[in-house]
Amino acid sequence: MPATTAESRLHYVLQHFWQAYDAVPTVSIGYADTQPQVEVVAVEHNFFAGTAPYPAPPLWREWQGRQLPFFFDAQPARPLLVLLPEGRARVQADVVSAAFYLLSGWQEFYSDERDQHGRFPYAASVQQRYGFVAVPVVNYYFEVLRAAVEHAGGQPLRPRRWADGRAWAAFITHDIDNLYSAWKAPAKAALQRRDWLGFARRYWQHFTQKDAWDNLAEVQQTVAEYGAKSTFFFLPEHRKAPNGTTNADYQVKQILPVIATLKQHGAEVALHGSLGTSLDPDRLYDEVVSFDSAGWGLRFHYLHWEPRVTPDLVDNLTNGYDSTLGFAEHYGFRNSYCLPFNLFNFQLGEAADFLEIPLNVMDATLHHPKYLQLAPEEILPALTPMFQEIERFGGVCTVLWHNENFDPANTRNGPREFRALMEYLRSRNVAFVNGSDICRSFQPSLSS
Ligand SMILES: [Zn+2]
Repeated sequence: MPATTAESRLHYVLQHFWQAYDAVPTVSIGYADTQPQVEVVAVEHNFFAGTAPYPAPPLWREWQGRQLPFFFDAQPARPLLVLLPEGRARVQADVVSAAFYLLSGWQEFYSDERDQHGRFPYAASVQQRYGFVAVPVVNYYFEVLRAAVEHAGGQPLRPRRWADGRAWAAFITHDIDNLYSAWKAPAKAALQRRDWLGFARRYWQHFTQKDAWDNLAEVQQTVAEYGAKSTFFFLPEHRKAPNGTTNADYQVKQILPVIATLKQHGAEVALHGSLGTSLDPDRLYDEVVSFDSAGWGLRFHYLHWEPRVTPDLVDNLTNGYDSTLGFAEHYGFRNSYCLPFNLFNFQLGEAADFLEIPLNVMDATLHHPKYLQLAPEEILPALTPMFQEIERFGGVCTVLWHNENFDPANTRNGPREFRALMEYLRSRNVAFVNGSDICRSFQPSLSS
């Protein structure tokens, strides 16, 4: 595996920095050896030559009124930013190493921790350990660089803008796992109560009425009420995984007319990779080709993602986008960044080609026996600080709300709670975009 060099890490971080401000590089940024206008002070550490998942604990500094963790910061007594004469500046914490560490996904690549579904657990993350999951720390590091660059270049750097000049964007998505299973839980509960009549009624309804989760037109209609459009991720695998975990309860080829209608009404349709495809390039390829969608997007079922395999596998297959990377256990920023970005391909030692649109909040995270147990009225107040961070940095807020949770019977993380989020987003003048819009706005500048 190619080791990273200080140069490759700097290049990776600066690529994202300039992209965050939609700016062409006008000021040189680097370590002292290249005598740049903005010097980032190198801290003696050999961290990236090794394979340890975690660096030394961060030091906390105040920046723009916020306490922020700085990894690779040796001398907290020194001011963070020194503005020098003749268009020079010095950043006295190694924000390039710190940004590389978080953005690249280093911790999950080198950690051996995985949960029962094979995922890197939130509990093993530095975000959990130091309590900054809902703070896009890398965006704050970039603000330090921005202040230095503005001083050095004598010009303001402005955050990028979205459609109609809006300051930030929202990417509303639905993973379609189930269409026909709403009746099962209540029928089972009736059986357990020995409520035979209740069971019989559910069973009869199942055969004679539309299932409450067979609701994709209603989902689209609900989203449209907010002037928004959304993206539907369909799961082309009907069979269970070898360990018994379920994939779709429907067969894609039987619902092609439904999908066509969604598309006609402006929906984006993308691939929900079934269990195992995040580890198996042939199976993922089969699902991609079986599923014709122009310029494609991807999210893996169960948010399954093996950091040592999946990035390279997706990188080989597409320059489209993925939107798997959030923590199932907690809303926030898994890579501490609120803009779409390119993961680091550790096999190649450079940025991956596909765009990662990080997932910020999933419906199940908010109320689930193993995740959070927020009351309905607690949801929006809990999420608002995260939304404010995304708005501040002109980022993308990615929301996953399963079609199952548009069932009015769900009064915990159901349609009412979804509507409350949409009301908020609309009230903050967000641009509702889909994955293709985001790719169009982000990928061209990266390929240059
Ligand atoms: Zn799924």
